[in-house]
Amino acid sequence: MPDPASTIEELTAQRDRARQEFADLVARGLKLDITRGKPSPKQLDLSNELLDLGSGTDADGADLRNYGGLNGLPELRRIFSTDLQVPVEQLLAAGNSSLELMHDALVFALLNGVPGGSQRWVAEPEIAFLCPVPGYDRHFALSERLGIKMITVPMTSDGPDMDVVERLVAEDSRIKGIWCVPKYSNPDGTVYSDDTVRRLAAMRTAAPDFRIFWDNAYAVHHLTDDEAEIADLLALCAENGNPDRALVFGSTSKITFAGAGVAFFGSSPANIEWWLASTSKRSIGPNKVNQRAHARLLGDRDGLRAHMRKHAALIRPKFEAVDKILSAELGGTGLARWSNPAGGYFISLEVPEGCAKAVVAKAKEAGIALTPAGSTHPYGDDPSDSVIRVAPTFPELADVEAATAGLAVCVRLVATEKLLA
Ligand code: PLP
Repeated sequence: MPDPASTIEELTAQRDRARQEFADLVARGLKLDITRGKPSPKQLDLSNELLDLGSGTDADGADLRNYGGLNGLPELRRIFSTDLQVPVEQLLAAGNSSLELMHDALVFALLNGVPGGSQRWVAEPEIAFLCPVPGYDRHFALSERLGIKMITVPMTSDGPDMDVVERLVAEDSRIKGIWCVPKYSNPDGTVYSDDTVRRLAAMRTAAPDFRIFWDNAYAVHHLTDDEAEIADLLALCAENGNPDRALVFGSTSKITFAGAGVAFFGSSPANIEWWLASTSKRSIGPNKVNQRAHARLLGDRDGLRAHMRKHAALIRPKFEAVDKILSAELGGTGLARWSNPAGGYFISLEVPEGCAKAVVAKAKEAGIALTPAGSTHPYGDDPSDSVIRVAPTFPELADVEAATAGLAVCVRLVATEKLLA
């Protein structure tokens, strides 16, 4: 990545300037945090009406405050059905967190097996998941916690490298699944191409009970008017004779309240039956009061889109600021590359090999908290030590600007010192 044209003298001058800037940065005594992709207080305020909206009865006259209605309110499922690309009758509204549903899906698979499988996943000597990298740290933490071996697959600008995926799943029956964030992926903002989705749906897998964990967390989280659309995985799986392959997840965590929203699970009729067989033992019904409030707040799909445009208006300037400052400070130096996503919550910053941990440590010294380097990879280990995840949504714009400018100083310092070492 370093610009081969850089001479030793130029690099030395850059390093000396970065050392001075770093000393100035530390002297400012900043306290900034761009670690986690949380909505900002102003984004949460967009949904405050929710707090007054959750009353009434369902279509059959049942009081929403009472038990029951395991599948979730149809009116809310209808609002999300198009964007999550799951027919309403195969889409459930449940709980407040999609990560919990992913956890449950894995646990149900481990303890009960899944349709099409011959035994429970825990009965297998070893099971593995493909993990496109860089990826979402909590997918990896969950897999590790449940004893699922993780096998990395490189990401391309079209999604996971499908040549690698197809080869691995065809030859290794231990591989039971793959983690996918198909739209505006965490952390690099990649949108899967139609061809990638089609190949995932159609590929031959050695495991008959292979599952795609399709975490469509950013289905409606566009930053621009150019709204990305992805191919319909569930339909393509059915068309290709693999109807039970896709498990679709989503939530309103970054639409309304993170932690007090609604999560969704969608799949084939057989998988929905499988899911309900377990969840009906685990729960007597979801929080329908919250679901009613969400349906009233959002109204319909157009209402959802209008609501998301308000989010975009609040956070787009933060993404633009990161790109502008990184371009001004690091553009043309050959010391860094970064994504410029059209949606989602993250920017992925790539620094020269062996520098990411040191950059994060330097930033910490200067009072700038970054997500630990390595967290974008299974077991927290980025073998090239080069990826840093930037999460600009939560802090105020001025803090995003200050943190990004400080981060750029740290990148210049660490990278030039390494190149001159
Ligand atoms: N999936 C992805 C890809 C995420 O980035 C996040 C949060 O950052 C989540 C899931 C968490 O979703 P939930 O709040 O619905 O559990």
